[in-house]
Amino acid sequence: MMHASRLSGDRAGADPACDPGRDARARIVELADQCVKCGLCLPVCPTYRVGRNEAESPRGRIAFAQALATGQIAASPTVEQHLDQCLACMSCERVCPSQVRYGELIVATRGLLRATSTKPLRLAFWLRHPRLLRAALHFANLPGLRNCIQSSIVQAALRPLRLDRLVRELPRLPRVIARARATTAVSRGRVGLFLGCIAAAADRDVHAAAVRLLATLGYETVLPRGQACCGALAVHAGDLESADALGTPTRQAFIDAGVDTVLVSASGCFGTLRDRTFAGTKIRVREIHEFLDGDTRIGELKFRPLAQRAAVHTPCTQANIAHADAAIQRLLARIPQMEIVALPTEPQCCGAAGDYFLRHADIADALRTEKLDQTAALTPDLLVTSNVGCRIFLDNGLRQRGVALPVIHPIALLAQQLEN
Ligand code: SF4
Ligand code: SF4
Repeated sequence: MMHASRLSGDRAGADPACDPGRDARARIVELADQCVKCGLCLPVCPTYRVGRNEAESPRGRIAFAQALATGQIAASPTVEQHLDQCLACMSCERVCPSQVRYGELIVATRGLLRATSTKPLRLAFWLRHPRLLRAALHFANLPGLRNCIQSSIVQAALRPLRLDRLVRELPRLPRVIARARATTAVSRGRVGLFLGCIAAAADRDVHAAAVRLLATLGYETVLPRGQACCGALAVHAGDLESADALGTPTRQAFIDAGVDTVLVSASGCFGTLRDRTFAGTKIRVREIHEFLDGDTRIGELKFRPLAQRAAVHTPCTQANIAHADAAIQRLLARIPQMEIVALPTEPQCCGAAGDYFLRHADIADALRTEKLDQTAALTPDLLVTSNVGCRIFLDNGLRQRGVALPVIHPIALLAQQLEN
């Protein structure tokens, strides 16, 4: 019952949020009409599981969207809240027997609400200035400064400004250990690698690892300087205009670089890049694990044994949009002696969901607590996850518990164990 999610507001198809009027309303009604109200999506919906409230379920949100579009109800803070509290995890789309295109519906409905709402996209400034964002993250991670701004005294001072959570959940930047570059000659062509905005700083170990794995397989990796954000957060907010403005420099940078394939290591960015940012271009967007797993020479990579237990969290975007979860399992299984254990009830959102963890702290924390409890029960030596937002959020949750468990991306783990 799986079908391609349209969370990214596919550029190739109708663009309901371009006209927040009659066409958008008609499209929302058309999409909502496909829901037969069977309720099969309720058990997999994270927000429903937290609150057991029909208004916080896919079925409830579809009913709100339909009532808004037909004018049966007017927008109100309560309705907006129920629609805004959707994580856009697409677990409902995955199990829906009627193949309701929930992703398209929630983006269109949020677009409709934006026409009357004055709420700005909170992170818009930073997403438009990725270099500034990276500089700020590096500054906040300076030795001593991070501990200082996360101290209880500074946290208390920041609370009235509502900045305490932002500071508490700052990404910890990984150290990139210089390793000998692969000596394999470039024989397989050039591929682009998408770095992202926050991920360009928080996943720099992943990007270095990807370059090394790809070089060992004979690929030259191109990292165009002009690339920036994918626009996913703006899409989630129903702001397709901002999404396109954010994605345009990225698209142009890869077109100028002359690559025909762009690899993505953050599953949260993948759908927007594939369905929106690069839609209509000749560039093919590939999920990096799926690309590596399908490579004819992947068997030539030799990995050192790792006698450890790795708990694996599958991000909802990985399972529901990128569909590369099986490829990740196969790649990790190439590391000898490593025991791989999946967290139970996967795929299930960890609560990070873009900037959701900043806007809806209670729900996000409840979901993270569940993940961390499941992780603790497995007594792993490391936690593996393939999306930058999940990695940051889970890593911070572990440290807030005083647990020193490494949280690592599959690509970084593979490169760490690479023998070639
Ligand atoms: S599973 Fe699909 S058809 Fe059933 S209630 Fe959920 S969205 Fe509607
Ligand atoms: S996208 Fe996720 S959070 Fe939103 S209604 Fe569907 S299952 Fe629930």
